[in-house]
Amino acid sequence: MESTDKRDIRKLSQEELEEFFVKKGDKKFRAKQVYDWLWNKSLKNFDDMSNISKETREMLKDNFIINHIHVDLMQHSVDGTIKNAVKLFDDKIVESVLIPTSKRITACVSSQVGCSLDCNFCATARLKRMRNLNPDEIYDQVVAIKEEAETYFNRPLTNIVFMGMGEPLLNYNNVIDAIEKITSPDGLGMAPRRITLSTVGIPKMIKKMADDGVKFNLAISLHSAINETRSRLMPINEVNPLEDLSDALKYWYKKTKRKVTYEYVIWEGVNDDEKHAKALAKFCKIIPSKVNIIQYNPIDEGEFRQASKEAVDLYVKILENEGIVAKVRKSRGQDIDAACGQLANKNEVGQLS
Ligand code: SAH
Repeated sequence: MESTDKRDIRKLSQEELEEFFVKKGDKKFRAKQVYDWLWNKSLKNFDDMSNISKETREMLKDNFIINHIHVDLMQHSVDGTIKNAVKLFDDKIVESVLIPTSKRITACVSSQVGCSLDCNFCATARLKRMRNLNPDEIYDQVVAIKEEAETYFNRPLTNIVFMGMGEPLLNYNNVIDAIEKITSPDGLGMAPRRITLSTVGIPKMIKKMADDGVKFNLAISLHSAINETRSRLMPINEVNPLEDLSDALKYWYKKTKRKVTYEYVIWEGVNDDEKHAKALAKFCKIIPSKVNIIQYNPIDEGEFRQASKEAVDLYVKILENEGIVAKVRKSRGQDIDAACGQLANKNEVGQLS
């Protein structure tokens, strides 16, 4: 970690940077030039800012630092998936994943170090929450994966999902700030419709997103449309039951006219029966939606087991009969613990301490 009192320059907005330059007797547009290097070109040190005079660069170095993530470990799965262990300025580690398919290259990024939510099937929950990621730390994860997509696949990054470590709606302001920079032409210029935020479903925050007029996609980790089962899987459901989630989703749809995706894992003996499948089909009618049935990725020798193919087929049949689109998603990157719910810094000794 850098021990310095200097400010991280990327914590400043472009307007704040403009004020800084004006105060130093420089031109306002210098801020735009520097901002462009910092975000659009993701430069890691002041000396590479070739259109900025040496004098100004020295002045910037006297006042600021550029905190940057470092990819500490990169693991390649047999299926092409890449997992990055990303070291932050305070030596904490988060993970992000590049998922290649024939049509897309998706970056799965983290929003928090660890997670506070205790979903009892998820490896990240075991880490507990350590801190929120800053906007630049989220942005940098995307940049790292974009570069890997170009280097290893010679293809552009096409999609971003907030399905890594943490709960994005519990770090709302920083996630929104990062998405603004990712979508801005001065940043990465990605279309908002290519971004999906995945949440356990915090009703109050879903309403806030709707009010804020966000343009990206929303995915809800549902896993059960029956309160009793869902509360056992995801303790957050005890204080935010399905009725409240349902209200928030109606509000979301009314305001945004965007459908939602439900992520759903089917476990043996937990939710693999007709009763649960029918409850899901009913829940899906609340607003236009589709379902991604995700394969369970075992995280230990624990109580959960992936349901049988028959149970998955039963779900698909029941959903399709009701006119609901349901896709069964293959798991990716399991061999390197890069699949959904497996992100837990396994290679990082000491992270849990
Ligand atoms: N906190 C957010 C984003 C992180 S989890 C959320 O809950 O949506 C990303 C997805 O992986 C969620 O749908 C989560 O429920 C799912 N997941 C967690 N553990 C899993 C596991 N072991 N196997 C399969 N999916 C899992």
